[in-house]
Amino acid sequence: MKLASLSREHRELIFLVLAFLIGFLGSLTVCAWLLIRFGWQEMAWWEIPPTMLQMLLTSMSVGVMVCGAVLWLSLKWRTLRGTHRCPVCDRKQRKPGFCEDCVRGPGHAG
Ligand SMILES: [Zn+2]
Repeated sequence: MKLASLSREHRELIFLVLAFLIGFLGSLTVCAWLLIRFGWQEMAWWEIPPTMLQMLLTSMSVGVMVCGAVLWLSLKWRTLRGTHRCPVCDRKQRKPGFCEDCVRGPGHAG
């Protein structure tokens, strides 16, 4: 599977899933490390399943937050790069209408 052969939407989806997984696994690792480091010995066995569930839920919400942050950043990045397209050369730019090159050049339609 080549990443370049996929459409932009698919690549973004894969990227978001990866961001979620990184956030999820990262915070799960931190939670597990904290549990092993500090709370493991004092805990009774019946306390372990709810703690694990809580860890999973916390990690999932962290993953969703990382996902949201990546989504927000990518939207921000796209807006910064320009959302308008020049109708002549189809180049991205910040302002609507013709780009500077097409206004100055000989082949412009306006
Ligand atoms: Zn142009």
